[in-house]
Amino acid sequence: TRGFYIGRFQPYHNGHHSVVETISEEVDELVLGIGSAGDSHTRHDPFTAGERIMMITKSLVDSDLVTYAVPIEDLDRNSVWVSHVQSMSPEFDVAYSNNPLVIQLFKEAGVEVRQSPMFNRDVLEGTEVRDRMVEGGDWEKLVPEPVTEVIEESGGIERIQRVSQTDS
Ligand code: ATP
Ligand code: MG
Repeated sequence: TRGFYIGRFQPYHNGHHSVVETISEEVDELVLGIGSAGDSHTRHDPFTAGERIMMITKSLVDSDLVTYAVPIEDLDRNSVWVSHVQSMSPEFDVAYSNNPLVIQLFKEAGVEVRQSPMFNRDVLEGTEVRDRMVEGGDWEKLVPEPVTEVIEESGGIERIQRVSQTDS
């Protein structure tokens, strides 16, 4: 079986990684859909699709799971969003999500949806990781080690701090 798991992964953090580990017990292959793929260089979406592909690929290099990272651009048209996803992804049997809108859209399209438990959600949340990056806090322990290398290589901390400022 092949699964599908979508997120923005801004950045890919230990919560996402635990979800993938849980999913890996149920499927042979997993497509990771990189949502809002066209967005980058903002506080909400600092990293490019390419940088997010690197974070995911390097974090899963030792995993038994066969994984594919597929960029999914925003369509802003929920009624046909599942078709949009399917048009960009290897075929999949089951979609994993905890997001109520995503769950609703897949169910209406007749796709099986499974939910995963939440892992340490008080700190393992993209918004918390990005806040720490902007404020100079300890974000490194919230992400897999390869993610820190990708962020360092791309000057990601200076970038998110710069784009979080205003010109007023
Ligand atoms: P943001 O604050 O930027 O929305 P996020 O942590 O919610 O960050 P997403 O890319 O939106 O990250 O998450 C993708 C999917 O992963 C969502 O369905 C979300 O519910 C799930 N997820 C995120 N963090 C965790 C976690 N700690 N445990 C389990 N699932 C998680
Ligand atoms: Mg989220």
